[in-house]
Amino acid sequence: MNVERFCIKPGSRLDWKDHDPDATPGCKSKAAAAKPLLANLERLLELQEQLFAQSERALLIVLQGMDTSGKDGVIEHVMGAFNPQGVKITSFKVPTPEELTHDFLWRVHKATPGRGMVGIFNRSHYEDVLVVRVAGLAPKAVWSTRYAHINAFEKLLADSGVAIVKIFLHISPEEQAERLTARRDTPEKQWKFSPGDLKVRTQWSAYMKAYQDALERCSTGWAPWYVVPSNKKWYRNLAISEILVDTMSRLGLAYPPPVEGIASYEIPPAG
Ligand code: ADP
Repeated sequence: MNVERFCIKPGSRLDWKDHDPDATPGCKSKAAAAKPLLANLERLLELQEQLFAQSERALLIVLQGMDTSGKDGVIEHVMGAFNPQGVKITSFKVPTPEELTHDFLWRVHKATPGRGMVGIFNRSHYEDVLVVRVAGLAPKAVWSTRYAHINAFEKLLADSGVAIVKIFLHISPEEQAERLTARRDTPEKQWKFSPGDLKVRTQWSAYMKAYQDALERCSTGWAPWYVVPSNKKWYRNLAISEILVDTMSRLGLAYPPPVEGIASYEIPPAG
């Protein structure tokens, strides 16, 4: 699968008409996706082990998408491949009163992964140019300066050894309607049903415009955005596993060399 097709080229325009959330390029069916997905998940574990052992680089995965787009599902079904010891997941909620007394990146910086770690952001600092913009939580004079701050912040992370990959899970409003209906009507899913999501749904086009601006302005060489067709969960999982394998295999990961003369060490009897 060519993952470059999902990448928003730095400096390019994004037209949602070019991105079909139903598309499944490079894989025709759920059955055909099973084997390559499994192979990718095995490879991800191997790459993560090298990342952890080498402890020079870090990986930050940013997940964004409209409600029900599958952020939790991706963490379970794709990131579930990683050894949990080397993973730090942060879900960004409405900022606390304390967080609001600081700049918008304060809580985000603290959550970034240290060397050897994989950091997963379930929502992120992008909420500060998405919900904040659409819901009018800050004036334009405030949120419009944030794209430059975000790019500079992500450059700082990249220069410090953090590889960054940002993924937008692209679903259609029709697909969301089905998923929200399922949440409302299925007892085991009802805990996820939040009336607040319905208000956000009525602002769909405003969110798409906000996402377009964020992705156009903040897809950079050091922290690219990928738009992944996500109406079909099996395709979403496969595509994201491919993007992660692609990103991680370009990090120059390898196991560190063993201690000198390792073969000559005798394992002594236990005392
Ligand atoms: P999720 O929908 O991610 O599963 P929640 O239902 O707890 O989890 O929703 C988290 C909420 O927090 C979302 O509505 C999101 O828009 C909001 N949120 C996250 N970051 C911010 C922010 N910086 N400012 C305002 N709201 C935010």
